[in-house]
Amino acid sequence: MTEAAANVIASGLSGLRAALPEPKAVLARRLVAAGRRPTPYDFDKHGLRLRPEEQAILQQWLDAGLVTKVARETRSKDGTVKLLLELRDGKKVETVAMPIGACCVSTQVGCAVGCRFCASGLFGVERHLSSDEIVEQIVHARRVMPIDRIVFMGMGEPSHNLDNVMHAVERIRDEVLISPKKQTFSTVGGVKPLERMRTFAVKPCLAWSLHTANETKRRELLPRAHKDPLPEIAAAADAYARDVGTPIQIEWTMLAGVNDGDQDVEELCALLQGVRCYVNFIVYNPVDGLPFTAPSRERIVAMVRAVKSRGILATIRDSSGPDAEAACGQLRLRDRVAADS
Ligand code: SF4
Repeated sequence: MTEAAANVIASGLSGLRAALPEPKAVLARRLVAAGRRPTPYDFDKHGLRLRPEEQAILQQWLDAGLVTKVARETRSKDGTVKLLLELRDGKKVETVAMPIGACCVSTQVGCAVGCRFCASGLFGVERHLSSDEIVEQIVHARRVMPIDRIVFMGMGEPSHNLDNVMHAVERIRDEVLISPKKQTFSTVGGVKPLERMRTFAVKPCLAWSLHTANETKRRELLPRAHKDPLPEIAAAADAYARDVGTPIQIEWTMLAGVNDGDQDVEELCALLQGVRCYVNFIVYNPVDGLPFTAPSRERIVAMVRAVKSRGILATIRDSSGPDAEAACGQLRLRDRVAADS
């Protein structure tokens, strides 16, 4: 392999931009992102003839070009597929492909926020993912099932890796052909990052991982989330959502005895007064070794009804694929425990 080809391959999907002239590079990246292995025929079809040296470089890239590979795949009964991806430096992240056509992608190796109920934050953050490593998760997911919606809700806090994530949003629009309106950026929130998000040209929809509207509980449950007062974060999130033109999805992981009481509902509804949003209650998916459980079905339904009765739209989401170890970070946690033992 020539040094030029090695450089192209070392730089992942972005490397195709360096290897081929622009229209061919864009087409190659789109075909790869669609889960295809492009051939000269694909290019001919679009009136783009590959020169022999371009064909050779594309072939070498296709053989070794992705910077990530699937280390493990688990499939749950409902069709959810969870992929444990290995990066070039041996670190691992998770990607979930859901039968509804959504792909949940990771943005960091580990997570600095350290939510008490989440396996991803147990060991802190190791590093950010590059935009290639983010986009490639969709390439792998599309090899498993059709994907037309992206949620940045996997491992990591996307606002801590904002430039790479926003670059990935743009590339997902241009290469994967999924509009920012069908991409959801899920964050624990913070005034500065939300204000900065408003300055980017691309604007994905916003999900705010709130989990509690009580400041004291928030410091306990999300120990390293931004310390801004919740009403200020709500105002910044509302301003961003109004720019985008879609309501904020409020994420509330339901934990029995922690955030499922009447007082929790009162505080939530008070915080959301005047905010353009809906609440997505997520049934907790237990993680080995963590002391949390999901509330009873009756309690879950009662909470949703109470929020709706206050004029706020609310839905329930069952965490996808509990038999595929779908709790955030769980597959990586099992892999890490097995490697250490
Ligand atoms: S829930 Fe999200 S923000 Fe919290 S530790 Fe897990 S990955 Fe990080």
